[in-house]
Amino acid sequence: MDNVFNFLSRRRFLLTAGAAASSSVLLKGCLGNPPDEVLRQAGMTAPQQTAQAANVNPAQAPETATVKLGYLPIVEAAPLIIAFHKGLFAKYGMAQVELAKQANWGAARDNVEIGSQGGGVDGGQWQMPMPYGLTTGKITKGNRPIPMALVLKLNTQGNGIAIAGKHLGKGIGLQLASTKSLFGQLKATGSQFTAAYTFPQANQDFWIRYWLAAGGIDPDRDVKLLTVPAAQTVANMKTGTMDAFSTGDPWPYRIVKDKVGFLSALTAEIWKNHPEEYLALRSDWVERHPKATKAILKAVMEAQQWCDRDENREELARILSDRQYFNLPVDVLLDPLMGKYDMGDGRIINDKSMAVRYWTDSQGSVSYPYKSHDLWFLTESVRWGFLPLSILDEAKALIDQVNREDLWREAAQELGVAAAEIPKDTSRGVETFFDGIQFDPADPTAYLKSLVIKRVAI
Ligand code: CA
Repeated sequence: MDNVFNFLSRRRFLLTAGAAASSSVLLKGCLGNPPDEVLRQAGMTAPQQTAQAANVNPAQAPETATVKLGYLPIVEAAPLIIAFHKGLFAKYGMAQVELAKQANWGAARDNVEIGSQGGGVDGGQWQMPMPYGLTTGKITKGNRPIPMALVLKLNTQGNGIAIAGKHLGKGIGLQLASTKSLFGQLKATGSQFTAAYTFPQANQDFWIRYWLAAGGIDPDRDVKLLTVPAAQTVANMKTGTMDAFSTGDPWPYRIVKDKVGFLSALTAEIWKNHPEEYLALRSDWVERHPKATKAILKAVMEAQQWCDRDENREELARILSDRQYFNLPVDVLLDPLMGKYDMGDGRIINDKSMAVRYWTDSQGSVSYPYKSHDLWFLTESVRWGFLPLSILDEAKALIDQVNREDLWREAAQELGVAAAEIPKDTSRGVETFFDGIQFDPADPTAYLKSLVIKRVAI
């Protein structure tokens, strides 16, 4: 118990005067393997909670102070961790928030399926289109639909593609045209290029596939793709069982720091300001607790604003690096957070606009969940044969059901977000990728037609 007490006193020390005097207890959950680590924000005394609640506008007072949210130890989770760590959930009346570190994405999926009443979670951090796969039952046990409400985008950018050091100097970079024969050679000699993502048919899988296919490499025929949890990617690359992987910072950068590989591309190079991960909750929870949902949104939005200020990124790196959250050296986190990437192949990127963004990026709002981005994830799922082409006929109705940008807007107004920071349209408009391909949300089939390598006949 010594560690827990040390941790508690250190945390009290870290709390700023303005933050709620919450504390946490590190408990081992009974789900997942290894067990999820659950952080409880239940340290406030009853009078403290009453005092907090008194500051909440009575008309906006949440129906419950309790929610359990899952997260994974990658920079995408920062807004959730900061809202928790700095007492922002409590500030908006959510004094009993629990954050549960998920062992992997499969565990997150299973935990939201059983819900917090069953020992799981009410929602949390998701790759795309997982909230859609849960809603339709595509990715749940027995294909049982678990309707989800997608309420906020946690971040844009902040991911990368790491390559094993043995391939250094062979021309594997953002552009792959000159390396096509290398992939063929590896396949012909029985040592097919093996690349890992953290969950199939979601972001990391899509970034690897987009990058390979843009370079003329067929991700289904020329390479082998498999699932590896983010925290195990470095170990697997060290043992030589993996040629490449895609995941959230700081894991790709760690490859360079540990001198076992290099970065071929940042996802920000593949698609500038690309949507990354999202906050989504079970719809039944949101329906029962609309004000609590907005309280969560306000806390996470305020955390996103805090995370995005340059002057806070050093403190952000320090908080995330803590043993209770990511348990990593600070410098491995700080460089990517500041847009400083030693790519490990002689290339140095030092550009804050290439780093993970939480509140705004050069195209405007990060936090607002554009429906046009949901449509891209569904369209890309069609591209690779993960979803049938007919899904595009139902996409609008499905997106209108899952995407609750209306709740985001209401919460933003309650928070006092400037009108200029609230998007007018549910579409961000035409998106452009590094190979010149464009996705016009008004015409997803034109995008599919423009792609050379795909698994859909169109
Ligand atoms: Ca990610």
